[in-house]
Amino acid sequence: MAEIDVERLLRDFRELRAIGTYRTGVHRPSLRPDHVRSLHWLSGKLTEAGLTPEIDGIGNLLGRSPAPGRKLLAGSHLESQNYAGWLDGPLGVLYALEAARAVAADPSVAGSGVEVVAFCDEEGHFGHFLGSRSLAGQVSEAMIDEALCRTDGTPMREALAAAGFAGRPRIVLDPKRYIGFLEAHIEQGDWLEANRLKIGVVTSIVAIWQFRITIEGYQNHAGTTRMAIRKDAGVAAVRLLSAIEERFPQVCGPRTVWTTGRITLDPGAPSIIPGKAEVLFQIRDDDREVLDRLERTLGELVAAADRSGPCRLQVEAIRKSWPAVMAEPLQKAIEAAAEHHCPGLHTRMPSGAGHDAQVMAEILPASMMFVPSIGGISHHWTEDTAEEDIVLGARVYAEAAARMLRGDA
Ligand SMILES: [Zn+2]
Repeated sequence: MAEIDVERLLRDFRELRAIGTYRTGVHRPSLRPDHVRSLHWLSGKLTEAGLTPEIDGIGNLLGRSPAPGRKLLAGSHLESQNYAGWLDGPLGVLYALEAARAVAADPSVAGSGVEVVAFCDEEGHFGHFLGSRSLAGQVSEAMIDEALCRTDGTPMREALAAAGFAGRPRIVLDPKRYIGFLEAHIEQGDWLEANRLKIGVVTSIVAIWQFRITIEGYQNHAGTTRMAIRKDAGVAAVRLLSAIEERFPQVCGPRTVWTTGRITLDPGAPSIIPGKAEVLFQIRDDDREVLDRLERTLGELVAAADRSGPCRLQVEAIRKSWPAVMAEPLQKAIEAAAEHHCPGLHTRMPSGAGHDAQVMAEILPASMMFVPSIGGISHHWTEDTAEEDIVLGARVYAEAAARMLRGDA
């Protein structure tokens, strides 16, 4: 049985929370001084735990295990969104750290080890999963050259130099070294809480399909143009979105979500009828068939609006990711560990948010588990999880890691 030390675990959570504190959350953007401090803090903890830490040339931290036998890769990220919560990322890193210690002390998995990883920039300050994709061997030097901070435009190269990581080699993982990858995360939704459940066993990470809808009307004077002859691109956009709200619930899956993230009107002035509109529209689901159906429906609605006039409408897909399926044997191990520590209080569920585990799933059998988020709140400084749920999650995680290393579910 992999036993965690609750006092030690909660001390780690308190210490890490104190780095870059903002109200009850943290402000720890990628490669800024507080993120760098958190990496050095973790390096110290990994060394104490008997692992060998290395921070690489893109700010990834990997703690290697000296264990001669089977190894599990485990972790998440330490940086935060701007002025955001204290658990999004750190929870998965601190669980991995505690599991590494628990497994090292567990005779039933003697010779096995947990290697702890903190992926740089999961939150996308500089790009799209640059840290984990670099570990997977998918990031070129040119991609780093081009990366800029989305908040203040700082080049990633400059940020890496300021952090002291410039010129270091980048680690590329050897998939053969690991039996798999395990990431814990706060749910960031309220499914577990609303159903009084404690552990979510992630089945897959949803695909995100992004569309740009462009609407062409006719720009004109807001005071002198009669209503009957207007071609108002703004009105056409609103009509289309309301048609989507009506039609999508009839064809979506049980957990599909869709979002209009941005509507831009051109020229966007109070006394001018907008001549153009652009809508950024996103659909998330883990079922390819559902996504295909919704894309077809969207195309039909846009074509119908275009035919009925008076504006011209077009839609194009601008980004499509694929659902990342979590490895079944690893899901079973999490499920069995949850059944041991909180019988009946766990469920299988997809992840509606993107995570590094989806990148790891491309090179390794990957798995994820969720703990409840109070009120489903995340990406906000009030994000929190009850302490008893944090502790229970750590117990399930360590036991799941041991089961994975033993190869039993
Ligand atoms: Zn996260």
